[in-house]
Amino acid sequence: MPESIEPFSNSLNYRIRSVLGKYNLKAEIRLSNLKAFFHYKNDVEKMLAGGKDPLIYEYYENSQPRVEGNLNFGVTIIYPGKVGKEYFLTRGHYHAKEGTAEVYYGLKGVGIMVLQTKKGESKWIQLGQGQVGYVPPFWAHRTVNTGKKKLYILFAYPSDSGHDYGTIKQKGFSKLVVEERGRPKIVDNPSFT
Ligand code: MN
Repeated sequence: MPESIEPFSNSLNYRIRSVLGKYNLKAEIRLSNLKAFFHYKNDVEKMLAGGKDPLIYEYYENSQPRVEGNLNFGVTIIYPGKVGKEYFLTRGHYHAKEGTAEVYYGLKGVGIMVLQTKKGESKWIQLGQGQVGYVPPFWAHRTVNTGKKKLYILFAYPSDSGHDYGTIKQKGFSKLVVEERGRPKIVDNPSFT
């Protein structure tokens, strides 16, 4: 039996940086942490060489003990911007325990989630303010900010699911979300393996 936790609510407040009132895990991910994940490597290097290492996304999570039956939830904030033609994005991951799902809810902003399976299926869904995304078991998922303002996403997933970032780091996503003529477009990733 997991230790007993009292029910609680957690206020969202956009005037504080975390948005989430109560969290016990925080991460800030900059361009230098995402070299392997952006497609346009020359643009990555140019930005870094020019002394720019922008914050791409951060998350604030209310983590529960890693025991079956618990849920972790939190807020991811993805900043607006591009590296070359590619919009700012999260690393994306499979769940280490692959048969586990996740729910995402767009709190503010405009975005797209790209998903794929190891069998070669791929899919993209709108994930902006007011939109709920369901990530079924076995689907890798990445969120992309296609807007001009910050994108705020609420997520909830099983506490024991874990994250596999390595597969994406190695193989990438089969689809890229790029800007063409000022609008987001989904294109094939030529370096997807
Ligand atoms: Mn996940």
